[in-house]
Amino acid sequence: MADSEFDLIRRHFATLGAPRADVLVGVGDDAALLAPQPGRLLVATVDTLVEGTHFLASDPARSVGHRALAVNLSDMAAMGAEPAWALLSLTMPAIVEAWIAQFASGFDALARVHGVQLVGGNTTSGALSVAVTVIGFVPPGQALLRDGARPGHALYVSGTPGDSVRGRLHPQASPGLRDRYLHPEPRVALGLALRGLASACIDVSDGLLGDARKLCEASGCGARIEARSLPLSEALLAAAGRDEAERCALEGGEDYELCFAVPPGHEAALLERVALDPGLGRVGRIGQLEETRGIVVTRGGVVTGFSQSGHDHFAR
Ligand code: ADP
Ligand code: MG
Repeated sequence: MADSEFDLIRRHFATLGAPRADVLVGVGDDAALLAPQPGRLLVATVDTLVEGTHFLASDPARSVGHRALAVNLSDMAAMGAEPAWALLSLTMPAIVEAWIAQFASGFDALARVHGVQLVGGNTTSGALSVAVTVIGFVPPGQALLRDGARPGHALYVSGTPGDSVRGRLHPQASPGLRDRYLHPEPRVALGLALRGLASACIDVSDGLLGDARKLCEASGCGARIEARSLPLSEALLAAAGRDEAERCALEGGEDYELCFAVPPGHEAALLERVALDPGLGRVGRIGQLEETRGIVVTRGGVVTGFSQSGHDHFAR
């Protein structure tokens, strides 16, 4: 690596995120040296954002840095894991210091909120893309998997899905919604709170309907979702109207909310936990798991065209 590149890394990436005692060697050597907590399982995930596919050249660099980490923290949340370490592989066509500084500040701010330290990475030239790896911890037996839901369990979603897609497609119309796309809030605290309560969990990256279907397929059951029960934001309802808001929530994607199943015996404890801790955000009961495969979406009890058979894996 050229000296200038090493300087670049030192300037922008040497001390991102929260300093952690379990990082023995971070950025600067050939590899990071990490001290995992005894008695914990490691949880690892990686996600790549490619310009033109997962973000736009016109998106603020700060948002790209935020989202590159957020999508991975969302996967940690969906596992009920506590994130600890991140690695960043950054591919750029040219070195634009101002862009890199903004990118790094977006990454840094979110990493600090979640106590995550950037411990290494790679910097190379090519078409703009960002790959982030996050590693975290979960006690044995406590991870939230996709396959534990059963017929009769309630289906919940966090936050207000649909805001992000509306904000991305209509950037001028409502700045509040656009910020939900640019700076999604990964539900890490909620994921931790769902340990021992949720029977299955997935994060909503591709759209609530599609991701709920993945959870159902993994669990070997189906679900019935009531569109009128979707927790929609006032901003989305005002911008899009009720029907379109429901469509955004069901099909939009990039919400980075959690969709999870809760056995009947755990619902009261869930609602109490959420009521006591504003940091967990809101959760909404949107339906229940059923024996019959596939997703049935009703509006006021009447079956809608959003419904999907459980057998057509290539629908949409
Ligand atoms: P090597 O050639 O041995 O793989 P590099 O010279 O590529 O190492 O990187 C030097 C150090 O800088 C390593 O610790 C690496 O993890 C770190 N690093 C490189 N790029 C980044 C980046 N974008 N973000 C964080 N750390 C980085
Ligand atoms: Mg080396």
